[in-house]
Amino acid sequence: MTQQQTTGGDVRLTGISKTYGSFTAVHPLDLTVPQGSFFALLGASGCGKTTTLRMIAGLEEASTGTVSLGGTDITALPPHKRPVNTVFQSYALFPHLDVTENIAFGLRRRRVTSVRERVAEMLELVQLGDFAHRRPHQLSGGQQQRVAVARALINHPRVLLLDEPLGALDLKLRRRMQLELKRIQTEVGITFVHVTHDQEEAMTMADTVAVMNAGRVEQLGAPADLYENPRTTFVANFLGTSNLIEAEIVSAGTDVVVSAGGGTLRLPGSRCPAPTPPGGRLLVGIRPEKISLTPASDAEPAADGRNRVTGRITESSFIGVSTQYVVESPVGKALQVYEQNVEHRRGLAPGCEVHLHWDPAHTFALDATQDMDAGVQSVEDPA
Ligand code: ATP
Repeated sequence: MTQQQTTGGDVRLTGISKTYGSFTAVHPLDLTVPQGSFFALLGASGCGKTTTLRMIAGLEEASTGTVSLGGTDITALPPHKRPVNTVFQSYALFPHLDVTENIAFGLRRRRVTSVRERVAEMLELVQLGDFAHRRPHQLSGGQQQRVAVARALINHPRVLLLDEPLGALDLKLRRRMQLELKRIQTEVGITFVHVTHDQEEAMTMADTVAVMNAGRVEQLGAPADLYENPRTTFVANFLGTSNLIEAEIVSAGTDVVVSAGGGTLRLPGSRCPAPTPPGGRLLVGIRPEKISLTPASDAEPAADGRNRVTGRITESSFIGVSTQYVVESPVGKALQVYEQNVEHRRGLAPGCEVHLHWDPAHTFALDATQDMDAGVQSVEDPA
């Protein structure tokens, strides 16, 4: 299959919602998945991502709203009439059929000709040519998963829906299959909508990620943008870890100056939620890997213009590629700091007094009045 053969259009959800009795699983949602993109619905268990996916597939009837594909309203179409296909976590392969017949199944049922060529094309796409005559139980989890993808793609759907398709695989295989799925998507150019609770998986594969929380999309964007510019505490902590510092605005201009823990911090005004009146409150955010540590016994770090805080290391965990520190400081009881292990750092052990310093440009801010979700990690309450 080539990109030229795949035509379609954007998937557009308009005011789509799902209620079960008095419980709202998905609040009215407007979402556009651009044609040909790899789109991830990311969120914790129970946030409504599978329900959203199932409404696109037609497996779940929407309580309100519409689903359209390439401008055509498909809300009333039953699942088998929609030009979409779904890969589930349980691949649901036929155990008595070999790989070839599993992949060919949909075509044979529709009495399509040229089955042999199309199966060969799929086997090549998922790199299972050597396994064509094996039965599912003779395949590894990753190979079975690829058969499921091939079987879903052979009908040339305009959209492929993937519901935690890597959930049954061990971590290493999962990482490999993420790259494999991304390669397949790039090669076929079909729109993929992928449901996952794994933020690393979403960021590895997707062009656009919609972060869902309690039946709503909290933020939508490219992975790097979501990571660098989270707009809510939930997003700031669901995608990686954030140190969130309660602060009061001192002055606002191109840079905003805030006071926190008896000192001042600076950050770009463009990274603050508007408005920023003096006296207003913010949650100032800094990612753990953006902070540098220097023993307090060393000379003050020279670089001017950096945000600085003093503190005391309370925990240190060596994890190979990096060392993770927890630091108690006036701005937070448990600041997280990750340092790459490029050199052996002496003297950075629990009990050590340290300077923490970072580039103000790496600092972001959130509206302090938003709910600090109970499950969210903050500097006062590390997970
Ligand atoms: P997971 O990762 O655990 O699959 P999810 O984000 O995909 O979670 P959904 O399966 O979309 O979550 O479910 C969203 C909410 O709707 C959950 O609280 C779930 O219990 C509820 N729910 C789903 N199906 C039904 C149903 N048939 N009846 C009642 N509640 C339901």
